[in-house]
Amino acid sequence: MRFADVIGNASVARMLASMADNSRVAHALLLYENEGSGALPLALAYVQYLCCQNPHDGDSCGECPSCRQISKLIYPDMHFVFPVNKGPKTNDDKPTSESYLKCWRELVLQDPYFTEAQLQKALGVENKNTLIAVAEAQKLISKLSLTSVADSYKSVIFYLPEKMNQETANRLLKIVEEPPEKTIFIFITHSPEKVLQTIFSRCQSIRVLPLSREEAAKVRALSPFDQDEDESSYMDIFSDLMGALMRSDLLLAQETMEAAIESKDPGSLSSRERQKAFCSFVGKCLRNIFLLQNGQSTLTDYPGQYEDFYQTAARACSQSFCQKTAEALSKTVSLIDRNVNSQILFCDLVNRLYYNMKQAR
Ligand SMILES: [Zn+2]
Repeated sequence: MRFADVIGNASVARMLASMADNSRVAHALLLYENEGSGALPLALAYVQYLCCQNPHDGDSCGECPSCRQISKLIYPDMHFVFPVNKGPKTNDDKPTSESYLKCWRELVLQDPYFTEAQLQKALGVENKNTLIAVAEAQKLISKLSLTSVADSYKSVIFYLPEKMNQETANRLLKIVEEPPEKTIFIFITHSPEKVLQTIFSRCQSIRVLPLSREEAAKVRALSPFDQDEDESSYMDIFSDLMGALMRSDLLLAQETMEAAIESKDPGSLSSRERQKAFCSFVGKCLRNIFLLQNGQSTLTDYPGQYEDFYQTAARACSQSFCQKTAEALSKTVSLIDRNVNSQILFCDLVNRLYYNMKQAR
């Protein structure tokens, strides 16, 4: 991938290119983004620029052997680490990223703006917690000790370092701090506050900005994944939930949520990743409701068939409902990450919504 192919974040791309041009290549870089903002495409374009044999005008050539191998994700000196778990797509008892390299390549080549939920689906570990375990650190250290094949940069694209445990971090600490010559680590995180401090403090960090509406629409148009399908199943759950709350029917609201979590349907909230995606979707809905309440309908972003729902919700909720619910959602997401029981979490969330709705009247 060339910088020119990355959607959005042109200033970050320029910063990365100028770091390379001025020989200020950080040995450990941390890109932090809201999911889907394009940190991975930026990292790939950066590695390609560093390794390109004929870079010009602040971008890689896209045609030399290095560029071609990097764009197919088969460059021998580019390594990937991402969270995994045991699953039907590998026979390894202690799987590492290498066990899933084929699935990873397919996913990244299809859509480098994928979400965590899409990654889990691609690896076939949808309902499991994924982790970067210590076996990963051992493999990586031995790979990096080999001489580079192309006599250029060796790179490690480390996706979601927040999913590594203390033991893994301890193993990696030395090599991240003092990597072999011309070896770089690029960490990509969605939750910088959860990256272990020992790793975080060794990185130069760069914020990757959220995409604008137009940029996000471009990403969506290029993606083969049907995000609309996910969004429509989240919308079904959210509108049922809001319907029950607007009628002050707490029992029905609780049943709606429980059913969504316990169901094994593809559209349900059976995995933690889908639960988080649902919370982020509800966050967007609240933003729309808030905008409507403030007479800013031109800034809203929802398909026309939901007009009635949004107008009704905007009338039924107060503005403090949106604000308080957004706070409750963010708390829920952080507790999902800490593996708190989903039933308890969502039961509490629904109670809070009910209370916020009552209070607003
Ligand atoms: Zn090139």
